[in-house]
Amino acid sequence: MRYLEAQHFRVLIAVEMGMKNHELVPLALISAIAGIHRGAVSKALSDLIKHKLVIYERGKRYDGYRINYLGYDFLALRALCSRGIVGSVGNQIGVGKESDVYVGGDPELNDLVLKLHRLGRISFRKLKEKRDYHKKRQYCSWLYLSRIAALKEFTFLKVLHDKKFPVPKPIDVCRHVIVMELIDGFPLSRIEHVPDPAQLYDQLVSLIVRLGRYGLIHGDFNEFNLMLNSKGEPMIIDFPQMVSIDHPNAEFYFNRDVICIRDYFRRKFNYESEEYPKFSDVERK
Ligand code: ADP
Repeated sequence: MRYLEAQHFRVLIAVEMGMKNHELVPLALISAIAGIHRGAVSKALSDLIKHKLVIYERGKRYDGYRINYLGYDFLALRALCSRGIVGSVGNQIGVGKESDVYVGGDPELNDLVLKLHRLGRISFRKLKEKRDYHKKRQYCSWLYLSRIAALKEFTFLKVLHDKKFPVPKPIDVCRHVIVMELIDGFPLSRIEHVPDPAQLYDQLVSLIVRLGRYGLIHGDFNEFNLMLNSKGEPMIIDFPQMVSIDHPNAEFYFNRDVICIRDYFRRKFNYESEEYPKFSDVERK
């Protein structure tokens, strides 16, 4: 990012804006949006291509440019830096199906987590062998879908955090990137022993019920989406499939979440409880 000048970012933003209604953005349009002379835009674009932030492609009807994953990351990170939210980006701590998670720091060097949504990544790979027009269509929508996914997750985080559910504190969102508190702990999937499985089991099923009473069903309540913090308390770190309690299949999803935790505790901690919540236990508050 150090090698880029303000003009590069202006051109990069112009490509991003052009992609709202173009799969490939022609040079003339980039120049018009950026308000920069074509020659200078051309020069900036060749630098951006060299740094793999932008891709040049020959289309059927015309040639043009589109933003690359890395280019979109740069735009989000630069905006978060200039807002004074992010000061540094460190190691990658997680690779999810649809995101990359990094630890970072704010300008005062306090830890934080950056979650970069990457929707369409898997299907894009699968589509690679397929025909050209498919590939392009998929690529273009990636930008939009990842942004929507980040905004949705951030909104859920905010609501749940405000209601004192155990989730990481949301800090900011920009494009496809969410900034949140770093949980000092481990995903449940990596924990071999807990001091009191019965207590943890109770905490987890109570959380499922509490969410239900608030009108929500997690839908994917498993050991990968839960962490234990340094005090051994459970935290929900991810909820990609959350649905409303009014969803037609709400009861099915609720029971599936409960079964998932019961099965896991039986397998991993050799613990089985007689008691487990039923959908009828959820009375809306
Ligand atoms: P995905 O939705 O792509 O599966 P997750 O949100 O589950 O991604 O995160 C992937 C991994 O990143 C987690 O398993 C966890 O190790 C780590 N992680 C995510 N969020 C945090 C956080 N707030 N604090 C600490 N680690 C986190």
